[in-house]
Amino acid sequence: MSEDALVLRDVWKIYKTATEEIPVLKGINLTVRQGELAIIMGPSGSGKSTLLSIAGGLENPSRGNVIVGGVDITNLSEDELTKIRARKIGFVFQSFNLIRNLTALENVMMPLIFTGIYSWKQAREIAQKMLEIVGLKGHEEKFPRQLSGGQQQRVAIARALAPSPDIILMDEPTGSLDVDSASRVLSLVKWLNEAFGQTIVIVTHNPEIAELASRTFYIRGGQIFEQPPTTTLADKVKEVKASTKKGELE
Ligand code: ADP
Ligand code: MG
Repeated sequence: MSEDALVLRDVWKIYKTATEEIPVLKGINLTVRQGELAIIMGPSGSGKSTLLSIAGGLENPSRGNVIVGGVDITNLSEDELTKIRARKIGFVFQSFNLIRNLTALENVMMPLIFTGIYSWKQAREIAQKMLEIVGLKGHEEKFPRQLSGGQQQRVAIARALAPSPDIILMDEPTGSLDVDSASRVLSLVKWLNEAFGQTIVIVTHNPEIAELASRTFYIRGGQIFEQPPTTTLADKVKEVKASTKKGELE
């Protein structure tokens, strides 16, 4: 498994209304390697959700290619796409998007069933394990309305994680959560990346998430820019100490 987790090649998105064409993405090139935690930031309306939806196969680009775990998903049939998506891509939304009339356990089982790989029994066992991993053991039989926002988002993360996808895409995952729930979701995201090497791409405004990133991107004017790694406060302190010592010696 040496492929890149996600490659966007010259991706364009032009929305067409009755009177005009609105180019939102203008030739996006992006490669996310396995094990990275990438953050995408940018002003409201800059196309972050559009980009993530295209990367996750939820929307088609007007032009260009999307390659997930070595598979070009751009021109697949609806059937093939459903299977590949279930197996390779986990999606986490700001508004959780759990299915209301399914229990937490059943929600997590869904993508596993869609892959066509797992039996009902296997899906059940994996889903149980996943709920345990996200700290929701004992909540398996609850419906979304019986869970807090933070708990619902952790079910959504368990669902995204269940089929061991090549990549998990998160669109403002803490945007609807209070500070405590957001921080719990954040620790979970960090742990999944560090302990399991899970590749994750997050669209966010949350500066705390931005701090976790191994790479940071900005979208502006339909283009994407990578921000070079910033020096951390610890690095700055080291620099200051080093220069002070030098100064004392001189
Ligand atoms: P962000 O997530 O960065 O706030 P979006 O990707 O949601 O931005 O939207 C980018 C631009 O595309 C906005 O101007 C939005 O109005 C427009 N847009 C998004 N979806 C559609 C659509 N289905 N039809 C027409 N315009 C759309
Ligand atoms: Mg958005």
